[in-house]
Amino acid sequence: MKIFNSMTRKKEEFKPITPGEVKIYSCGPTVYNFFHIGNARPFIVFDVLRRYFEFTGYTVKFVQNFTDIDDKVINRANEEGVSFEEIANRYIKEYFTDAQGLGIRAATIHPKATENIDAIIEIVSTLVEKGYAYEVDGDVYYRAKKFKGYGKLSGQPLEDLESGARIGVDERKEDPIDFALWKAAKPGEPSWDSPWGKGRPGWHIECSAMANRYLGKTIDIHSGGVDLTFPHHENEIAQSEAANDAPFANYWMHNAFLNIDNRKMSKSLGNFFTVRDAAGAYGYEPIRFFMLSAHYRSPINYSQESLEQAQAALLRLHTAKDNLEFLSKNGAEGGLTPEESEKIASFATYREKFITAMDDDLNTADGIAVIFELVRDVNSSVAEGTPSAEFAKACLAKIMELCDVLGLLQSDDEADLDAEIEALIEKRQAARKNRDFAEADRIRDELKERGIVLEDTPQGVKWRKA
Ligand code: AMP
Ligand code: ZN
Repeated sequence: MKIFNSMTRKKEEFKPITPGEVKIYSCGPTVYNFFHIGNARPFIVFDVLRRYFEFTGYTVKFVQNFTDIDDKVINRANEEGVSFEEIANRYIKEYFTDAQGLGIRAATIHPKATENIDAIIEIVSTLVEKGYAYEVDGDVYYRAKKFKGYGKLSGQPLEDLESGARIGVDERKEDPIDFALWKAAKPGEPSWDSPWGKGRPGWHIECSAMANRYLGKTIDIHSGGVDLTFPHHENEIAQSEAANDAPFANYWMHNAFLNIDNRKMSKSLGNFFTVRDAAGAYGYEPIRFFMLSAHYRSPINYSQESLEQAQAALLRLHTAKDNLEFLSKNGAEGGLTPEESEKIASFATYREKFITAMDDDLNTADGIAVIFELVRDVNSSVAEGTPSAEFAKACLAKIMELCDVLGLLQSDDEADLDAEIEALIEKRQAARKNRDFAEADRIRDELKERGIVLEDTPQGVKWRKA
């Protein structure tokens, strides 16, 4: 597979660090609100990346964090007069509701910043010890110019970064481009003990700490929206590479932005939509289809028309699926005819074309086009004479194999079931944390009865259907 690497600005053949395994870290949401339709783009696109790697036989470790402490979370908590935990937990729950609706699978691990303060303090301490960071009045800053590669991802000369940083400079920083790793506590704000006094982490450091903890010093792919290239990802690289003396990520993938009616989405323009709003108007699946109907590196325009087109296109796929399900039960008996066997064998070309498209930097737009070609071919094949039930079943399997990679036409039952199992696992974790082992065992048994096997790993609980 070829991936466009934002670091080298070239399409490169993907080579994993460990054969057969891919380690992906994808920057997740700040949980202070429902996520918006722009945020949905990276979540959907990189969910497909993961599914495609699995389809081609890789084991994927996919980490997507929750930023559960920052100014926005704190402000929201203050506005409502509740704790920051209450805001974060509420919107993590809402994240899973929308993600499930959109067919975004739960990551292998969804770490939270506040559950990794120890790892954050450890990396900040390392950076201080190595001279890459310095403390001023309980704040810790990263000495950007000390890191030789600063600016290598965004490709910006240091002078440009410097002039951008000169606005509203904090006098206590040695250099305007230095950035905060740790922030001294302000009165009334949540804080944690640290070698620099009470405080909380800056935003960039959490991803360096969690990527290292859950995936190791060097990861295969780091992904996120293009707006994160600078400063967020640039700073992650500086932090991780200086602390670990190892390359941080071998491939960087960035999705382009989603615009609304050809304008940037913003609250002040009044064109800001949450996924919850959009799903209320069009349903979840058309949103997913729409996102995948363009290449992830092309800007995409959200409009009523584009969502209606997505609905219409999906209707064609669902109609074909319903028809094949009907024929699978009501088609001719006696198995495949020789012509039918031949026809099914010929469908292999669609699979190959789909793989060619997806291998080319995850070209989901072309992938979708191939699915439609296959559906057209299937529709005309079953329209001739009396197809056998076996033939209908085989045709459906060919279509579903490709739709599964894109997370389209998924049965709601299955998604609901997965969410229910994950909720039970979370409940069991909570029981164990509270040392309520009887309850934890009861939940494990309940899952076992439902054919779910749990495996406790250092990275968290994994589950599979037995
Ligand atoms: P945030 O919660 O703001 O950190 O954003 C979560 C993810 O959404 C990040 O990967 C952002 O780059 C991405 N993102 C935010 N706005 C948009 C947009 N309008 N289009 C595409 N991606 C976006
Ligand atoms: Zn990040």
